[in-house]
Amino acid sequence: MIKDGLIQPEKIDGIPIKVSIIQPRGIPNVRTMKPMTPKGITVHNTGNTSPAAGALAHGQYLQKLEDKSEEYKSWHITVSHDRIVQHLPLTEQGYHAGDGKNGYGNMHTIGIEIAENKNYETAEKNTIKLIVTLMRYYGFEASALKPHRYYSHAEKLCPRRILLSEENWQEKWEGFLRQRILSNTSHYNSMGSVPDWGKKTIEKLIAKGYLMGDGDTLGLTLDMIRTFVIHDRAGLYD
Ligand SMILES: [Zn+2]
Repeated sequence: MIKDGLIQPEKIDGIPIKVSIIQPRGIPNVRTMKPMTPKGITVHNTGNTSPAAGALAHGQYLQKLEDKSEEYKSWHITVSHDRIVQHLPLTEQGYHAGDGKNGYGNMHTIGIEIAENKNYETAEKNTIKLIVTLMRYYGFEASALKPHRYYSHAEKLCPRRILLSEENWQEKWEGFLRQRILSNTSHYNSMGSVPDWGKKTIEKLIAKGYLMGDGDTLGLTLDMIRTFVIHDRAGLYD
């Protein structure tokens, strides 16, 4: 799924992925060139509602920052309503967590920005699919997933669309983990998330009407998929 820090598939769960790594220009203000073994994910909102401020535009923005060597700022991936764009290898540290060059967030976590330019709900749903995929790949627990606010020395309320207010951001984050992340890490809810070895069987069950295939609510566990595949091999669904 990930090779040399680069996301390999062209799509995750139906969402197109563009790997467009920022070209290093010498001063390591965007491309830190510092190696990283990811231990978690930090979630952000771009805070930019301008319609043009999608995932591709944020990549161009980062390249300009690197070209001018101005600001020390970077993150790994931006997700918008229509795509996922990777800017940094996942094996390299970024500057996104606001906890300094030796902070845990910057040194050890993958920074993901959710774009706010168009259809925020879809951008957030796409991000959840990406996060769930990365959590499965790296074997992260839910506790490895943090909002920028958690690390930020400046106490920046980010991702603002999820945390909503300074008063109870911890509760809002816990709710997000419970309702949007854990429900998806324990279950395979969309066809795209079903492991390749189970896809044919699940497709067959949907086609035959044994399994309702609408939306993102398949509600399958790994054990269920395994069992269905064994039954399918035994010819039970033919
Ligand atoms: Zn942030």
